Amino acid sequence: MADIIKLLPDHVANQIAAGEVVQRPASVVKELLENAIDAGAKTIKLIVKDGGKTLVQVVDDGDGMSETDARLSFERHATSKISSAQDLFNLQTKGFRGEALASIAAIAHVDMHTRTATNEVGTHIKIEGSKIVSQEVVAAPKGTSISVKNLFFNIPARRNFLKSDQVELRHITDEFHRVALVHPDIEFHFYNNGSDIFNLPSAKHRQRIAHIFGSKMDGRLVPVQEETEVVKISGFVCKPEFAKKSRGEQFFFANGRFIKSPYLHHAVVAAFEGLIKSDLYPGYFLYLQVDPSSIDINIHPTKTEVKFDDENTLYAILRSTIKHSLGQFNVAPVLDFEHDPNLDTPYSYKEKGATLPKITVDASFNPFQQTPERRSMGSGAYQKTSVKGWEGLYEGLEKSTDIEGFSSVVIESESEEQGTLYSDDGTGHLASTFQLRRKYVVSTVKSGMLVIHQNRAHERILFEKFLGEITVKEGLSQQLLFPMELTFNKQELAVLSEIKESLTNIGFAFESLEQETVKVTGVPLVVPESGIGTVLDRLIADYTEGFSDGSVSQAEVLAKVLSKNLAVRTGEVLDQESQLALLDNLFACKEPSLSPFQKLTYTIISEGDIDKKFS
Ligand code: ADP
Ligand code: MG
Repeated sequence: MADIIKLLPDHVANQIAAGEVVQRPASVVKELLENAIDAGAKTIKLIVKDGGKTLVQVVDDGDGMSETDARLSFERHATSKISSAQDLFNLQTKGFRGEALASIAAIAHVDMHTRTATNEVGTHIKIEGSKIVSQEVVAAPKGTSISVKNLFFNIPARRNFLKSDQVELRHITDEFHRVALVHPDIEFHFYNNGSDIFNLPSAKHRQRIAHIFGSKMDGRLVPVQEETEVVKISGFVCKPEFAKKSRGEQFFFANGRFIKSPYLHHAVVAAFEGLIKSDLYPGYFLYLQVDPSSIDINIHPTKTEVKFDDENTLYAILRSTIKHSLGQFNVAPVLDFEHDPNLDTPYSYKEKGATLPKITVDASFNPFQQTPERRSMGSGAYQKTSVKGWEGLYEGLEKSTDIEGFSSVVIESESEEQGTLYSDDGTGHLASTFQLRRKYVVSTVKSGMLVIHQNRAHERILFEKFLGEITVKEGLSQQLLFPMELTFNKQELAVLSEIKESLTNIGFAFESLEQETVKVTGVPLVVPESGIGTVLDRLIADYTEGFSDGSVSQAEVLAKVLSKNLAVRTGEVLDQESQLALLDNLFACKEPSLSPFQKLTYTIISEGDIDKKFS
């Protein structure tokens, strides 16, 4: 057989390597920003168009490159940062692989202007798909400017795989944060489609954090400081009361590099134990300095996962340092999570003296009369827009005959004169419900016992309600007597304006959406006034997470997020009317059997099953 092994041409090898280095525009941003920092820049400008798909440009005032270096920089494994394997154990720079520029140039149109301090003229190189298109001598300021245009122009499959501009911009912003947070001394400017998103002056760490995440962040930070032989720790954790439902403001940096470490994250969470609920995440900005030889940043191509030599010690030190800081700054209130608000005396009763209970008899009470029309729940936590009768159950059932365990209900009820919801006792009463362990609503149906998961069922109900309202724009709004002013940081505002239209459709009304404050003038009926801030916070956080992962529509993501955050929870007491309303509304849904998160909403335990228990 003839020899068949060939060396791949450089541009093909580069394209393959590019797949590892460049996943999306944000990867380009990261590489270019890091190069600018390695070049000793004092001021860095990041310019982005269309989520980085059209343009990512980084302009720095660093060392610049000579004509030869400028050309060499696009070769694979061309780096000025290490010269021997030994150097890997004493890395002081962000880059060292020498593949970023080669990779980027393989899959985009790249334009570079660069000049060193000692050269009077600079170099302009144009390179497209690894081919040098032109190289000329130009007048240029000291430093380097690299524009990366039309990313993945020659790999349509990768280009099509990119998400919407907004999502890509969010990834870019994340990378930008990671770099800007660890280099507060460098001035950063970040422009998107011509408007400036961030202007960060040279500052200290704390100010930098506040410049990025909004001035309200400043008051939430607790400093953390410790120096041992193994590690030097500095930075901040957020006070426990500002812990969030979602991950987000959690940053670890090791030797000036953003890293991800589930293990060290756990150490921080452990330090917060007893101070925040277990489903909340503490915010933190922690900078670790370790001996470069004790850390291996080489195990992952995009370099966010690291391996420390002595992780266990690091864990222990980190945990106790943070505990100490939290204690020192007196931010350890005693929280009672098991406290049951239902046992509180309502405010209006607090000042009243006790009165002797009286028994009154309602003479007009007729136990055989049908229950009066149900009212919706009062607290605002759960309200129905239309009160449907028990027929709702029947309608729902009819539509879902394909669901197992359901058909029997439908068939049986069809053969009966009375509807499914009538109880079995022959009195013609509506079936009664009761709540089990503040988690389930139990009722009877013809075929046995119906057990509804209150949280999931309500999620399903709200999901369908919101989905409908977002699309047909008919959400009912409750005007606030006093508009509420809420503060958000820039990222949060960006998300808010992205989803503003949908929110308006379901009943939110915003007066102004600018700077750091948002004036809310109306909210959907289901949102209690006291919870507006929390609901919007969670909405933004959950939406950010949900929308970047799935490819579903914005309406669906929002409806999911809203239902998740507004549904009655396990542990909440439901009064009789609310229980019945839940039952009604669930079976009026198009898809009553599953929550929006594909979990079972109810089950029916058949009479046969119960009989078996007694046999
Ligand atoms: P690495 O950063 O791993 O060395 P890159 O492909 O990112 O590899 O860059 C290759 C080389 O090009 C760098 O080692 C550096 O010498 C030079 N270089 C890249 N960007 C800049 C810049 N903004 N300013 C000065 N030199 C740069
Ligand atoms: Mg680099």
